[in-house]
Amino acid sequence: MIIIMLGAQGTGKGTVAGILSKQNNWIQVSTGDIFRENISNGTELGIEANKYISKGALVPDEITISMVEKRLEELKNEKGIILDGFPRNLEQAKKLDEILANKGEKIDWVINLETPREEIIERMLNRRVCSKCKATYNLKLHPSKVPGICDECGGELVTRADDSDADAIKNRLEIYDTQTKPLVDFYKEKGIVIVEEISERINRFADDACKDFMQKIK
Ligand code: ADP
Ligand code: ZN
Repeated sequence: MIIIMLGAQGTGKGTVAGILSKQNNWIQVSTGDIFRENISNGTELGIEANKYISKGALVPDEITISMVEKRLEELKNEKGIILDGFPRNLEQAKKLDEILANKGEKIDWVINLETPREEIIERMLNRRVCSKCKATYNLKLHPSKVPGICDECGGELVTRADDSDADAIKNRLEIYDTQTKPLVDFYKEKGIVIVEEISERINRFADDACKDFMQKIK
């Protein structure tokens, strides 16, 4: 089973992907998390990627696609994979189809999370992530039990650099509108898109929402 999460920044893609992975024993592949891990480890890939991420630009396709291709190869024996943050433009989507077709695989479902634009910026500003386990929180919608401390692992919660930089936020939203949003139609034509519009629900009742997704998928 291969599932893609689509949706603007801060809509709960990572949260939903995390819950679905846990509920079904699937593997979550978040390109943003892989980049951030490389940045904090100071790898060559991280140094290169950070040039783009810090500005809110997309990391070039050749870097991103080969990174995902490698990861998919490592995961070839897994029964389920959720891609969270990839593909993000048409080029990546077409390349992904090719990579999967070569393995005799295909994308089974695309879950598209929709959120009104006004909410998105607030969500990004209120987002906090665990510096250890990468769990995501929202100060207003989904706060941790103890402020500043991760419920899951006790790690310190931090603000992502690209979530506190106004220019980076603006760039990311523009890229989402022009490059990522068209993917919804690309996949709708294939008839594999599931739309979830009430993203409030994702924050408050995420476990239930994910069970609903599974009903639609099975
Ligand atoms: P968000 O959902 O808030 O954009 P992500 O963690 O998905 O956050 O991504 C953070 C940053 O990593 C992006 O702004 C972009 O610079 C880079 N990135 C993540 N995925 C991709 C991708 N598929 N292609 C190019 N760049 C990516
Ligand atoms: Zn944690």
